[in-house]
Amino acid sequence: MRLTDTATGRLEPSTTGPRATMYVCGITPYDATHLGHAATYVAFDLLHRAWLDAGLEVHYASNVTDVDDPLLERAAATGVDWETLAAEQTALFAEDMTALGVLPPHTYLGAVETIPLVADAVARLLDVGLAYRVPLEEGAGGDRPDLGDVYADISADRHFGQVAGLTHDETVALFAERGGDPDRPGKRDPLDPALWRRERPGEPAWDGGPLGRGRPGWHIECTVIAGHALGPAFDVQGGGRDLVFPHHEMSTAHARALGGSGGRLQVHTGMVGYRGEKMSKSLGNLVLVSDLRARGVDPMAVRLAVLAHHYRTDWEWDDGVLERAEKRLARWRTALSGVGGPDAESTLAEIRHALADDLDAPRALAAVDAWADAALSLGGDVEGAPGLVARAVDALLGVRV
Ligand code: ZN
Repeated sequence: MRLTDTATGRLEPSTTGPRATMYVCGITPYDATHLGHAATYVAFDLLHRAWLDAGLEVHYASNVTDVDDPLLERAAATGVDWETLAAEQTALFAEDMTALGVLPPHTYLGAVETIPLVADAVARLLDVGLAYRVPLEEGAGGDRPDLGDVYADISADRHFGQVAGLTHDETVALFAERGGDPDRPGKRDPLDPALWRRERPGEPAWDGGPLGRGRPGWHIECTVIAGHALGPAFDVQGGGRDLVFPHHEMSTAHARALGGSGGRLQVHTGMVGYRGEKMSKSLGNLVLVSDLRARGVDPMAVRLAVLAHHYRTDWEWDDGVLERAEKRLARWRTALSGVGGPDAESTLAEIRHALADDLDAPRALAAVDAWADAALSLGGDVEGAPGLVARAVDALLGVRV
């Protein structure tokens, strides 16, 4: 099966097998899980399922960024303890994923529990000169204000920029927009990302050995967790398209600095819009899976609504999208309720072909639609055919019918 690699824009083999490895960036646990998240994890769940179907030994790793600036800001703004907020939202995310039929990762690690691993990696980068310290402002750094924050030196990486393929000016603008700090005094390059943030008054901090007390940067967190779970090189680094830059550019650069190569393929999902804008926490136009579930919406209809769009396209959520998915699910269930039906071997083959071709879920859904249409209009007497379709829909598309 082949996938579109963001870095080259080409279709590439999804794995070299027999071990197939994937790292998909997890959530920062607040406002989890909106439909943009759902679309991303459902897309990579299709890949997971296609690899299993091909008989590969799959290792799927993910993380939860359970300490980071946006989480701390949200906790402070709402007066909730940040650890309580992170634990509640991480649990809600897991519930949503289970409801949507997303197979869980084999390795699932949080930022907080992996701090010693990250601190080691950052200390190594300092030792070999691929990272440097930046002096702190007055009042930061606790009893060791002389130990600065640590930043990666991206000028040392001649492959930097290959993931996103953007010019330096474009990346500086995006960096500022997406949580970076291009104007921080003392940095060698505006794009250099933070690896270790020293303690600040009112912020949580952990022992970083030679780094001093502090907490990890986001990009290095993913690099270290992916490397720890999957090794220095793995098949697919995945996430939403808004992670291409800076997150995946930086985390791949960090993987190289640590002697590995990170994801062989960079695979990204499109953005889900709502009421004319990209669904995002900052705009506040989120449709949450948990809200839909609370309203009694069948999560399998939500999954089908997501699958009706190719993972790389941008699309808009609205009531019509959900209604069409609910009708489709009901129609499939009716068609699959018989003992016999039209022959389904070619339907199974078509679902597999569609998924092998850059996870073309809409085409796979159309194959099931065609079988359901035939079953409902013409009938059929192939015993076990509905069972075959139901198992294919369950195993390959993750839709329980
Ligand atoms: Zn990540």
